[in-house]
Amino acid sequence: MATVTLTNVAKRFGAFEVVHGANIDIADGEFVVFVGPSGCGKSTLLRMIAGLEDISGGEIAIGGKVVNDVEPADRGIAMVFQSYALYPHMSVEQNLSFGLRMTGNPKADTERRVKRAAEILRISELMERRPKKLSGGQRQRVAIGRAIVREPQVFLFDEPLSNLDAELRVQMRVEISRLHKELGATMVYVTHDQTEAMTLADRIVVLRAGHIEQIGRPLELYDNPDNIFVAGFVGSPKMNFIKAHIVGRDAKGVVVELAGEEKTRVVQPLTGVAPEPGSKVIVGVRPEHFGVAGEGDADLTVAIDVVEHLGGTSFLYARTAHGEDVVIQRDAAKVPETSDVTVSIRKSYLFDEKGMRLR
Ligand code: ATP
Repeated sequence: MATVTLTNVAKRFGAFEVVHGANIDIADGEFVVFVGPSGCGKSTLLRMIAGLEDISGGEIAIGGKVVNDVEPADRGIAMVFQSYALYPHMSVEQNLSFGLRMTGNPKADTERRVKRAAEILRISELMERRPKKLSGGQRQRVAIGRAIVREPQVFLFDEPLSNLDAELRVQMRVEISRLHKELGATMVYVTHDQTEAMTLADRIVVLRAGHIEQIGRPLELYDNPDNIFVAGFVGSPKMNFIKAHIVGRDAKGVVVELAGEEKTRVVQPLTGVAPEPGSKVIVGVRPEHFGVAGEGDADLTVAIDVVEHLGGTSFLYARTAHGEDVVIQRDAAKVPETSDVTVSIRKSYLFDEKGMRLR
C-alpha cells in the first residue's frame, strides 16, 4: 500500500519556520497536488517526503512505514524535477537505464522496464538520441521515463511543466493524467498553477505561508472554499470580492448591502451566528455567477471598461458605482452593447473581515 502520511510535519531553516505542523493523508493510488504562491513551502514539503530535506518535527510514513530516518534511495519514491536533470552525454536509452544499471539490476529486467516506459511515453523512436537533440516536451518525457523504470511506490513531481511553453504544458498535463490512470500509482505533484492543480488532482492541498489553508477535491474547493484565500486562488478569472456590510436578518438568512449600493442587497443563508448589523463583510461572486438583470436575488449596475472575446465566452471588465473592479463572464452572444449594464448576482459567498467564510 503506497499511502503517504504526514503527521505534524514541520520544517525550520535556522530560526525560520517555513512549514508549520502539516497533516496530510494521501491514499494509495491517489493524485494529490500541493498548490500555493511562491514561497508557501510546497517544494520543501515534497522534498521532505523525498528525503532530500530533513524534517524538523513530526513524522512522515510511506506505505505505513515511518521514513524519517530512511535514505531517499530506500523510500520507494522517484522524483521528477522541473529541470529534467538528464545526463547530456548519454542517449535516451542510457538515461533511462542508468539508475537500474548502477544498482546492478538484471540486464533483461532493465531492458523490459526501459522498453515499457518508452512505450508508455511514446518515445521508443528516440532511444538513440542525446538530450540536446530533443524538444522540451521530449526531454520531460525522458525525465518521467526515468522515474517510471524505477517502478516506485510513489511518484513525486516538482513543477515538472514550468519550463514548457503554454501549448506543450497543456499537452503534457493530459499525458501525466493518462499516466496516472495507466499506472494507478500514488502521485504527489507540486505547482503554483491553479489550473494544473484543478485539472490533475484527485485532491488539492492549498498552502499559504507554510500553513494548509484547505484540502479537498478540485470542485469541492471551487464550490465550497473555507476562506477568502482559497476562494481567490482557485478559479480563473478569480472570484470578485466586493465590500459590504450586514444589514440584518430575514427568514432566508442574513441580509447584506454592498458598499455604496443602497439598493443592492444580497441574502445569504447562514446557519452560524451572523455578525452584528453594521459589521463589515466581503461578498464574493464568481464571474459566471453574474446573470442577466432580474435573474438573481440582487441587481447591480456596472460600467464596462473592456470586453475580452475568447470565442464561446467573453469576459467583461467593469466597475461598480462604488469603484470596485469586477469581472463578468458572459456567452459571447449575450455581451451587452452599452457600457452601463445591470447584472444580477445569482450566487455569492460571504466572508468576514478576517477572510473566513460565513456559512
Ligand atoms: P516556489 O514556488 O517559489 O518554489 P515554494 O512554495 O516551493 O516556492 P519553498 O521552496 O518550499 O517554497 O520555500 C519555502 C520557504 O522556505 C521560502 O520562504 C524559502 O525562502 C525558504 N527556504 C527554502 N529553502 C531554504 C533553505 N535551504 N534555507 C533557507 N530558507 C529556505
